[in-house]
Amino acid sequence: MMDGKALAARIRAEVAEAARELGDIGLTTVLVGDDPASEIYIGLKHGAATAAGIRATDLRFPSTTSESDLLATIAELNADDAVDAILVQLPVPGHIDEDKVVRAVDPAKDVDAFHPENAGELYLGRPRLVPATAAGVMALLAEYKIELEGARAVVVGRSAIVGKPTAHLLLQANATVTICHSRTEDLARETLEADVLVVAVGSPAVVTADMVKLGSAVVDVGMNRTDAGLVGDVDPAAAEVARFLTPVPGGVGPMTIACLLQNAVACARERRG
Ligand code: NAP
Repeated sequence: MMDGKALAARIRAEVAEAARELGDIGLTTVLVGDDPASEIYIGLKHGAATAAGIRATDLRFPSTTSESDLLATIAELNADDAVDAILVQLPVPGHIDEDKVVRAVDPAKDVDAFHPENAGELYLGRPRLVPATAAGVMALLAEYKIELEGARAVVVGRSAIVGKPTAHLLLQANATVTICHSRTEDLARETLEADVLVVAVGSPAVVTADMVKLGSAVVDVGMNRTDAGLVGDVDPAAAEVARFLTPVPGGVGPMTIACLLQNAVACARERRG
């Protein structure tokens, strides 16, 4: 098992140390509407930030907020010197153009690293800020000394926030990377070749034990709420075949929050030169 909780706790302690060193780190989150899952995520992020000594401000707006009002708020936060890092919780309500919102955040304060400029730097192989989940996956692989150079890595899922950035980071670590998605013809044929398998789909047991290569490292990013509780995308029976498997919960989830805080530190450091 790859223990995300323990590693995340260590990273959070390092963040707390950095926050003490820097004196003050300002993180402002913006939540529009009352999506219950978003409220949970924002709550978790605030709890972790505050515990690490980051000054976290929680801005909330009703679901009827106009796009122009939200963009004006982001512009104010961009201009506010006391704000090092900005996070607009996605998804935003349907009448607001998500792409415009993502592009509005100052790339230097873009703690989620979703701005095209940060995505572009990653694509070009010189990552600055990296989406927290992808960074968390890489940190787990490093912690367990999973060899990436020359390894066959397969990423299932190609979202801009998880699959693609993870694939780019693996490529940069000199793995040979395959990206699978909903149109992949024979998923098992691809996953069975994977020395390192990262699954970010959002569908329970989309990867079963018979799809996993013996001795491989499997990172399960999936978070699916079912009657049986929170489950990942990988059948836990895969643990009998893989050498390493991340649990759900307690794997990538805590790493995402810890790496988000790391990004806030990176924003503050960069802004202070
Ligand atoms: P997403 O935007 O819905 O993307 C899902 C990806 O999976 C898409 O690229 C889709 O392909 C692909 N896919 C769907 N069905 C498939 C299938 N049967 N076989 C192969 N690929 C398939 O989701 P996301 O935002 O990347 O999140 C993925 C999962 O990770 C979700 O469970 C989410 O809750 C979880 N998550 C966890 C964390 C964490 O901290 N642990 C953070 C973020 C997300 P197409 O592109 O062809 O549609």
